[in-house]
Amino acid sequence: MRLQAVKGTYDILPEDQARWRDLRSRVATTLERAGVREITTPIFEYSEVFLKSVGESADLVVQKEMYTFEDRGGRNLPLRPEFTAGVLRAYMEHGMHTWRSPVKLGSMGPAFRAENVQRGRYRQFHQVNCELLGQASPLVDAEAIALMYTVLTGLGLEGMTVKLGSVGDPEDRARYNEYLRQELTPHESELSETSRTRLALNPMRILDAKDEGDQALIHELKRPLDLLGDEARQHFEEVQRYLTQWQVPYELDPSIVRGLDYYRRTAFEVHHQGIGAQSALGGGGRYDGLVESMGGPATPGIGWAFGIERVLDAIQQRGSRQSKRQGPRLFLVPLDDEAVAELAGLAQKLRTITSVEFAYARRNPGKGLKEADRAGARYAVMRGKSEREQERYTVKELDSGDQFEVSPTQLEALAQGLDEEQ
Ligand code: AMP
Repeated sequence: MRLQAVKGTYDILPEDQARWRDLRSRVATTLERAGVREITTPIFEYSEVFLKSVGESADLVVQKEMYTFEDRGGRNLPLRPEFTAGVLRAYMEHGMHTWRSPVKLGSMGPAFRAENVQRGRYRQFHQVNCELLGQASPLVDAEAIALMYTVLTGLGLEGMTVKLGSVGDPEDRARYNEYLRQELTPHESELSETSRTRLALNPMRILDAKDEGDQALIHELKRPLDLLGDEARQHFEEVQRYLTQWQVPYELDPSIVRGLDYYRRTAFEVHHQGIGAQSALGGGGRYDGLVESMGGPATPGIGWAFGIERVLDAIQQRGSRQSKRQGPRLFLVPLDDEAVAELAGLAQKLRTITSVEFAYARRNPGKGLKEADRAGARYAVMRGKSEREQERYTVKELDSGDQFEVSPTQLEALAQGLDEEQ
């Protein structure tokens, strides 16, 4: 037999190390600025750590996605399929509930799942993970989501969408599961095998079904958002209010449900259009009650994780790293008279971060873009009446032609990311 890497695993070769190093250092910088402290936990834990946290009915258990090895004492030790359980175990073990809250913990490293291997799906993959513990306020949900978005923007990604939902409080979940049972039990024989198991254990997860027959059956049914109780609904509305105020672009996705049983209220995913069917870069949600179910003090919390392979894939799709453009990173184009002085001022501010030039008079978009192109700029940043009204900028990447809108904060993050590129 020719020796080769185990199916679903791969080598990160010398030529790829710079990309990984660059990603790690940028992520660390953004997280550190947000008060997130780094924690490194072991890649394996006692199986109770995972079983208590994921819940009996969770897919990771049901579908036997966990890699487990037997140690010399005959104990079964799982390799972590995700970070949250281990991080919460450490939180309890080191008495972090006495720290000033929210306690923000960040990690990066490998995770292991016995999955069907396909593009974007490996058996050993890597995640960036972040947990915010100790606060139940919707402000923390919004901070967590905005932070994930900023981290990804800081890596030079754009064109991302936050999909936002709420699975409600445990009573709401129970009510919804009951509703699904009632609706689907008469059609049980038409469901796929996975969904039949889910119907017995955790019907809500059927919404995630890939099977087309399943999707046809659930198409007409109500979604968790339709059955939210008052408190969960109010919490959800406040999260949205903050995100709108901070200009984090999101869309409601009533069918969003996360893999594990312990999620409650806010659930979200961040998607990127460039990476095909597996378009989720990552996601997260609130899990108040989880620490308690693991034997710790009652502790509200919310967390997220994204897959590093998928993010690197998305960055590579953009190809911006290979840009041959020699001019300024940004070229600012005023689309009306009012924007002329405004953008000249903004250029001076952004020059503390990266190289910026601007047009000295109002331009129409076509002419402005041509001028930016001639200057050898990487991005044209346009501002006119409609952008001013919405407190946004229209940005065009000149190599790819991709166009998108950003808030002032996101523009700064983009500039930051550009400056750190080689
Ligand atoms: P999850 O913990 O399942 O919500 O996954 C969060 C993110 O981790 C996903 O959106 C992917 O980016 C990444 N991920 C999960 N499973 C895999 C896998 N088997 N291979 C590569 N990336 C993965």
